[in-house]
Amino acid sequence: MSFADKHPRLIEAAFALHDAAVLYELLYRRFGGRDRIEGSARLLERLARDYPGHKLADDALVRRGDLLLYELNDVAGARKSYLEVVEAYRNADMYEVARVRLRSIDEGTYQKTSKSSESSKSLEKQAHVDQGPLVLIDPGHGGDDFGAQGKGGLLEKDVVLDIALRLEKLLVEKLNAVVRLTRRKDVFVPLAERTNLANDFEADVFISLHTNASPKGKVAGLETYFLDNTNDKASRKLAERENRSMRFEGSQSDLQFMLSDLIQNAKLEDSIV
Ligand SMILES: [Zn+2]
Repeated sequence: MSFADKHPRLIEAAFALHDAAVLYELLYRRFGGRDRIEGSARLLERLARDYPGHKLADDALVRRGDLLLYELNDVAGARKSYLEVVEAYRNADMYEVARVRLRSIDEGTYQKTSKSSESSKSLEKQAHVDQGPLVLIDPGHGGDDFGAQGKGGLLEKDVVLDIALRLEKLLVEKLNAVVRLTRRKDVFVPLAERTNLANDFEADVFISLHTNASPKGKVAGLETYFLDNTNDKASRKLAERENRSMRFEGSQSDLQFMLSDLIQNAKLEDSIV
């Protein structure tokens, strides 16, 4: 029996602390206010202190470190947070991110924020420009919503979450990007909440991850979609090129079946597939 099974109410309390911290940060991003970001950092610290080993503890420590480092200019405090993950959460999903951040502090290569104590919107944006892009990764489905199912029982919700976590590491390591995920665990996130997160985070890039399945089992390849509400010829050309450059092992009719199925589903849900 796991800790979560024995102490469900304690686990819920940890999630509540996490949600409250996210809420404070969203309020800060929209309205500013140093007290809000300090409040968020305090809640994250409390989560890690009261629920050590909880699956959100490493996420909380890294997030706290980021807030201290990039928003509050508290380098020593940030370093302590990252170090705790590196020392105590070796197998956690945020270990690698913490290690990279810690190294950037020790080598003095992290991007310093403005000395201003009250971070204004424009200063905040400037800091993010120095840091690399703000990226929101949205692994589709989750919880009771399995998404597509493979022949051997492989579920879309698990595949896209795995891809999202790997992508996050790469974006942080290679681009020094500031990355948020709409979900880090196997939980259902309503579409409205995903889009709210995208708007509130003011991401430069929003990446929605989905995987498809074909009843024929032979088809393989990559699909790229882009929002067709502009006359941006460059992005349309890019999507065309991405799709064309992939080698499709199935026949063209397999692909057409998959696409028409996808479009029909999209219309039914009036949303993403
Ligand atoms: Zn999907």
